Amino acid sequence: MTRFRHVHIVGAGLAGLAAAVRLTEAGISVAVHEAAPQAGGRCRSYFDATLGCRIDNGNHLLVTGNTAAMAYLDAIDARGALLGPDDARYAFLDLGNGERWTFRPNAGRVPWWLLQPSRRIPGVRLRDYGQGARLMRADADDVVTDLLPPDTTIYRRLWLPLANAALNTEPQHGSAVLLARVLRETFGAGGGACRPLVPREGLSESLIDPALAMLARRGASVRFGRLLRALDMSGDTITALRFEDGDEAVADGQAIVLAVPPAVASRLLPGIDAPDDFRSILNAHFGVHPPQDSPLFVGLIGGTAEWVFRKREVLSVTVSAADRFMDTPAAELAPLLWRDVCRAYDLGDRDMPRWQIVKERRATFAATPEQQRKRPLPRTKWRNLVLGGDWTDTGLPATIEGAVRSGFAAADLLAG
Ligand SMILES: Cc1cc2nc3c(=O)[nH]c(=O)nc-3n(C[C@H](O)[C@H](O)[C@H](O)COP(=O)(O)OP(=O)(O)OC[C@H]3O[C@@H](n4cnc5c(N)ncnc54)[C@H](O)[C@@H]3O)c2cc1C
Repeated sequence: MTRFRHVHIVGAGLAGLAAAVRLTEAGISVAVHEAAPQAGGRCRSYFDATLGCRIDNGNHLLVTGNTAAMAYLDAIDARGALLGPDDARYAFLDLGNGERWTFRPNAGRVPWWLLQPSRRIPGVRLRDYGQGARLMRADADDVVTDLLPPDTTIYRRLWLPLANAALNTEPQHGSAVLLARVLRETFGAGGGACRPLVPREGLSESLIDPALAMLARRGASVRFGRLLRALDMSGDTITALRFEDGDEAVADGQAIVLAVPPAVASRLLPGIDAPDDFRSILNAHFGVHPPQDSPLFVGLIGGTAEWVFRKREVLSVTVSAADRFMDTPAAELAPLLWRDVCRAYDLGDRDMPRWQIVKERRATFAATPEQQRKRPLPRTKWRNLVLGGDWTDTGLPATIEGAVRSGFAAADLLAG
């Protein structure tokens, strides 16, 4: 592709922002157009009046092995906006029998931690961990449970929580290839690549606001409330962007990164491939000040809640692939989840504090083999338009890492 002078980026989620950061780094001017009144898309924070504090739309976890996300944080001077333990450690509680453990792989690639029973998962034999190698031989059509038998302790205590969180898709439908890719880049690279990281303050403060500040310093324009309705085309060239509030000609030497969700991209560009099946995520936030010396998050086995995160002003629950709960009234869900939160953080039978339930119905595309085949590459048949977004073919499930990689890939194509 030729090098373009100016790029219009439509969508200020992480993919669009990563593209903008990368392009301005290369000295290319950008204009970001975002439909919403704020940036961040599915990764943002806001003030919640019920709780009286800022919350994230959903708990997000990164790991140090998310190399593109780390490069993005470095590029926006925000690596310090995340925090996590000094080493890879994941606290778990089995709600069935009350057993607690900390999953703690060692830093290097040689997994000597497996020889230390104190670092292993109770009830899991040394040889069971070898099942992970089966995933590495996965075919495109395999789902996770084709390769990891679900009637084992290691499945219940490791593979299931890992697959649910990484794929946001139930393992009996989730793509084994996508899970294998995540594991190869994290556990396969040693515990040093698995150190968990969460926002010090909130998602917007860590991942979005520093990018907007960096773009402002570089003279980029970022405009909100700009809903793209249509694209004008002539042959293999996009000639204009039709926004609800006016049109924008796309001159020679100008290009577009379309970093909107897949349903929007398919409407604007009929005929492109795009995932069309999605999974929800359920989050619940409880207004309690948790003990500061307790783990940053706890994985729960056998509960309704799957992960509980300790934030500054709330304890926050995540349930992945939560489509079964989307029609359950929030008032029914809250006490169910609060019971698990109390167990996770040893709160006894404390009364339920103020709470908020957030249902993200289309949190991510369904990471199934069928949907995986529908993911397009960033390059399109239009010579001046590339696609961005976690749903493009990044080789990863819908994650921050995937979104950032897609934004970088789109930018690199346009920067020649
Ligand atoms: C609840 C939840 C929990 C998650 N947890 C994790 C996690 O723990 N770890 C992790 O790595 N990932 C997690 N993710 C996934 C991560 O948030 C996404 O992969 C990432 O934010 C996607 O970024 P994106 O830029 O591809 O898409 P989006 O964030 O969807 O951005 C698209 C942008 O386009 C804008 N737009 C749409 N239509 C138009 C239009 N017509 N004109 C102009 N603009 C438009 C939208 O407003 C939006 O800002 C989670 C997601 C959710 C919802």
